[in-house]
This record gives sequence, structure tokens and C-alpha cells, in this order.
Amino acid sequence: MTPHTLPKLSYAYSALEPYIDAETMEIHHAKHHQAYINNLNAAIEKHPDFGDTTTETLLRSLGSLPEDIRDVVRNNGGGHFNHTFFWKIMAPPKESSWPEGILTDAISKNFKTLDNFKQLFTKAALGRFGSGWAWVSVTSLGGLEIHSTPNQDNPITEGLIPILGLDVWEHAYYLKYQNRRPEYIENWWHVVDWSQVSESYSKAIESIRPHSA
Ligand code: MN
Repeated sequence: MTPHTLPKLSYAYSALEPYIDAETMEIHHAKHHQAYINNLNAAIEKHPDFGDTTTETLLRSLGSLPEDIRDVVRNNGGGHFNHTFFWKIMAPPKESSWPEGILTDAISKNFKTLDNFKQLFTKAALGRFGSGWAWVSVTSLGGLEIHSTPNQDNPITEGLIPILGLDVWEHAYYLKYQNRRPEYIENWWHVVDWSQVSESYSKAIESIRPHSA
């Protein structure tokens, strides 16, 4: 059995300043994310059969997990997966950054303009009452869907493949933005790593494309 561990960030806690402050990043990563991992590992210890199962597989098959750990895995396996994903789709702010490759075409096709795409995403992030996430996911038919989930629920459980996600729990922004979630969302676009998101999109499309014989 291999316990789940906290992934290292590929940038410093201060690297997303001034949009996301170093103190928030450190607490978010070293305390909140670590807590999800500790809780997940404690649950898996009760069912060593799942000791080497990835969080992705756990989340995809939540319904078939033993009932006594299902909710713990949903919340903490979700928390572990979501945060690991979140750290990867952010990067230090660049002067300009845009979607690349086939993602550019998909955004045009589904949302006409990048501005419109951002507006719809912002609406999803603002509309999530309480704690949760806003997502852009690839559907089983290859379309793009903007949606949100409560708590630490993840699109994978719904059969979707997330390519972009924003944590709108207060712990993600309260130190710097207090109750100003709209300002947090607006500033967050500066630290989105579009090359990562574009790559995830390409991989997602590749994975759902029917394989020819
Ligand atoms: Mn969080």
C-alpha cells in the first residue's frame, strides 16, 4: 500500500503574487491540502484493497466503494485530486497568456470569444453558493462544459474530464480578498497556465476519440 502524499509545487508560494498571496498559498497547500490527504489515507487504511488505487479511479467509481468510506473518499479523495489539479493549472503571471492549439478553436466554436467564455465561467464561480469549485470540462462527446460542483465533488464522478478548475472555498481567497469573491476570480485569470490547460484539453480529446482498428 502506497499512502497518498502532498505533491510539490513547481513554483514558490510567493510566485503567484500579487494575485494570490504567499500566505494563502502556503496554508492552502501545506495545511488544507495536507489535511485532505491525511483523511484519505486514514480511510484507505481500513480497506487496504484500495491502497494502490489512484484518486482518479476512486472518484470515477465512488458508487462501488464500501459504504463506510464512500463519503470520506468523496470529500477527501476529491479534495486531494482537486487541489493537485489546481496547483498544476496555475503558473506565475506572464505578460500575456492565451489558450493554445485546438483549445482555441474549441472555445471559439463553443463560446464564440474568450471574453464570453470567461464571463460564463465567472458566473458559474460566483453562482456556487457556499464552498465548491467552478470547472471547464470535456464531455463524453468532446464538447466543452462550464459548470460548478459543491464541496470537493469532482467532474470525473459525473463522467466528465476537467481541464480547468477554480477553488471558490473561502480558504482559497479570504486572507487577501475577504468577502470579495468577484475580485479574486477576476485576478485569478492572470495566473492561469493556459499551456497546461491546452495540453489537458488535447489529451482529453485524444482519450475519448474512438480508436480505429
Ligand atoms: Mn482549497
